[in-house]
Amino acid sequence: MMNIVYQVKDALYVNLTNRCPCACRFCLRNNAPGVYGSDSLWLEREPTVQEAMDALAKWPLEKYPEVVFCGYGEPTERLDALLEIGRWLKANHPMLPIRVNTNGLADLIAGQPTAPRFAGIVDRLSVSLNCADAEEYLDLCRPKFGKAAYPAMLKFAQEAARYVPDVVMTIVGAPVTPPEKQAACRALCDRLGLRLRIRPFERIQ
Ligand code: SF4
Repeated sequence: MMNIVYQVKDALYVNLTNRCPCACRFCLRNNAPGVYGSDSLWLEREPTVQEAMDALAKWPLEKYPEVVFCGYGEPTERLDALLEIGRWLKANHPMLPIRVNTNGLADLIAGQPTAPRFAGIVDRLSVSLNCADAEEYLDLCRPKFGKAAYPAMLKFAQEAARYVPDVVMTIVGAPVTPPEKQAACRALCDRLGLRLRIRPFERIQ
């Protein structure tokens, strides 16, 4: 059985792909296949847009504070599908906020700027900043795009803030990110005009 839609605490999550251009050393998919009580979030194949909409329609969507595109892969690997599902959600549940948890590499994945495409569909973007140092990011996240990834992620987040009402940069709290590195991330976000959130180690993205 495929876990296309699953619940974590109050929120409903949509899992569209296993693909990801990163191989983060801390990624839960390397360590915890049964996370959140689901058998596995590893998809045997990618669901179609219709399959994802059918799966969502089985849940009482009006009861949830938000729908989150997340999972064991990078959701913007399927940006077209994500936005189509998002448009359908907005048309049928206009009050339901839509969040995307992303590594921020959508522009490199698509080979073109993507931030404007989120406008009017995505309400909240959670971008994994991970650290304030490009070399450390390379070692930690091992993106297939190499050194281009870190500046592209920062640029995407800054651009996305023009189109998405709530953009937040995330890092993993201590002990993964010690206080002095948290401070460096906060200074970077302040410089870029972005908001920082420190999340617990257990979370995906
Ligand atoms: S970006 Fe997210 S899904 Fe991809 S390897 Fe890193 S933690 Fe895992």
